[in-house]
Amino acid sequence: MQIAQDKVVLIHYTLTNDGGKVLDSSSGGDPLAYLHGQGNIIPGLEKALEGKQAGDKLNVRVEPAEGYGVRDDSLVQQVPRRAFGSVSKVEPGMQFHAQSAQGQMRVVTVTHVKGDMVTVDANHPLAGEVLVFDVEVAEVRDATGEELEHGHVHGPGGHQH
Ligand code: ZN
Repeated sequence: MQIAQDKVVLIHYTLTNDGGKVLDSSSGGDPLAYLHGQGNIIPGLEKALEGKQAGDKLNVRVEPAEGYGVRDDSLVQQVPRRAFGSVSKVEPGMQFHAQSAQGQMRVVTVTHVKGDMVTVDANHPLAGEVLVFDVEVAEVRDATGEELEHGHVHGPGGHQH
């Protein structure tokens, strides 16, 4: 069965950055399960998987625009320490959920702390990165009606609910 719109796809993958550093991998665990054509995974990878089938291996290089986006410097902000309320210690690398001016929830990463000012970055940690995926297609199957209704895959590697 070929990968096409609304198929359930299970893949094993290793993600490295342009410099060959491993960022993420499914090796040793369940394959990642996603519903094809529903934006469950980044566009560049989804496009490359179209038409592939179980057993196919591919190496995909994804530019930032087709990955987690380009970095947006306006998403880097300085906020006063008191904005973190009861958090006793704020350190670089910590991540918090914050509400944007448009009311969307996003994850911000603390990048710098100086005196009473904290610098936070709301870019995706992989924004601006060229991503290289080594992928092996493990399985392709039809989605159930319930999966199509929810827009995601159920079971191992997918949503458990
Ligand atoms: Zn569901």
